[in-house]
Amino acid sequence: MDKWTLGIESTAHTLSFGLTDPSGTPFPSCSDTVSPDEGGIHPREAADHHKEVASVLLGKLLLQNELSITDIGAVAYSQGPGLGPCLRVGAAIARGISSRLGIPLIGVNHCVAHIEIGRDQCGCVDPVLLYVSGGNTQVIARLEGRYRVLGETLDIGIGNMLDKFARTQGIPFPGGPVIEKLAAQWLAENPNPSMDGLELPYAVRGMDLAFSGVMTAAQRLLDSGKSLGAVCWSLQEHAFSACVEVAERAMAHTGKSELLLGGGVACNMRLRKMCELMAEERESISFAPPRMYCIDNGTMIAKLGFLELQNGRITTYAESAIDQYLRTDQTPISWA
Ligand code: AMP
Ligand code: MG
Repeated sequence: MDKWTLGIESTAHTLSFGLTDPSGTPFPSCSDTVSPDEGGIHPREAADHHKEVASVLLGKLLLQNELSITDIGAVAYSQGPGLGPCLRVGAAIARGISSRLGIPLIGVNHCVAHIEIGRDQCGCVDPVLLYVSGGNTQVIARLEGRYRVLGETLDIGIGNMLDKFARTQGIPFPGGPVIEKLAAQWLAENPNPSMDGLELPYAVRGMDLAFSGVMTAAQRLLDSGKSLGAVCWSLQEHAFSACVEVAERAMAHTGKSELLLGGGVACNMRLRKMCELMAEERESISFAPPRMYCIDNGTMIAKLGFLELQNGRITTYAESAIDQYLRTDQTPISWA
């Protein structure tokens, strides 16, 4: 193919357009994220936001790369999982571009896209993926032509948990980065911290995880007079070590020696450090892509679309409906 692949990401709070060049090399996205003044994300309001900003964002992306729309030879979009109204906006834009230009349409799996952009950026081959985002928390590994979910959250995603906890303290979305900062500040003032009085329930359930109880208990610590910084630190330590424990067990069971982080929470430096330490102890390596490819981005959708297209998969209009509940292991993986 001598043309570029456009990727459209719209699973939740972010609308993002990204590109891969004719050889499949990723180029940074143009994104815009809805941030409500108060409360959580309302799916329909987020969808309205996506509709409003779409044409300006796409124009900006093309301009930034000195391309015109006719340089695009295929268009990929997030088909799921995600919020229905948001997914529908991305799918509608993709169908429009595909039919207008007469180019292939490829509906892709958002979770698989996080893995493939991570592999591309970090150069790892066959990792266990610790996918920690707002709505998803999964430990994934490739076995027999699928990315299999070996463990996952039984209730809310770790990012949503951090955001919800932050919101109870008046911290606007996204709360995760603020919690990270507060925890680091507290640690700098308390260089030899003790967990005494700051214990929280442990989120591990076999190979799965559960975060809502941890969040409630963290709020109780605040009610009992503990400082916000101390509780943020404890919350991170507990929630992240639970994720790292499940990831470590997945590495042990599958015999894989690479760990790859993905999803917005993978921006967190403490989580990255914990993963590095665990991997070192196992004589393995932990990888984390650059921040712009951890958070939701159109480039990862373009990258996966490129791979799918190279392997002969395109999406007909009849098959192009979104699937809010698309599972990571529903998507066949045919590339190396
Ligand atoms: P995603 O759903 O993959 O786009 O990621 C968004 C989530 O990542 C939100 O829940 C954010 O609070 C979370 N997040 C982003 N940066 C950080 C960070 N530095 N530490 C913890 N969570 C973060
Ligand atoms: Mg995501």
